[in-house]
Amino acid sequence: MSSYKASIGYQAYLNSGTRPDKIPPYEFIDGQVIIYPGEIYCRYRLHGETICLNSQPASSTNNLRHHIKRHGLNIYQPKSGAPSLDRQLKAMNWYSQFIKKDEIEQSEEQVAEEVCI
Ligand SMILES: [Zn+2]
Repeated sequence: MSSYKASIGYQAYLNSGTRPDKIPPYEFIDGQVIIYPGEIYCRYRLHGETICLNSQPASSTNNLRHHIKRHGLNIYQPKSGAPSLDRQLKAMNWYSQFIKKDEIEQSEEQVAEEVCI
């Protein structure tokens, strides 16, 4: 079974190790931060504006959680264990916002070329 990590959206989010410029601020459930499976960049905004100075990717989502707690935030805890399919789909959907339009066109072109051959 392929996971969200193989998706073009997740690869666009990883952005070769650079935090994407247009990364959205955190959303909350009951005052707790929602972290999607696979997240590695902090997107905390001080006073809702200034993004966290730590733009480096965390070595794991777990390490990102530790970092976020140091902002004094609580993290929404989904059921433990592997993320459900539903959560994976939500994550894929969230990650897809980082795909640049020209990347989509490029991958469509590649498909078109392959069809021609
Ligand atoms: Zn941070």
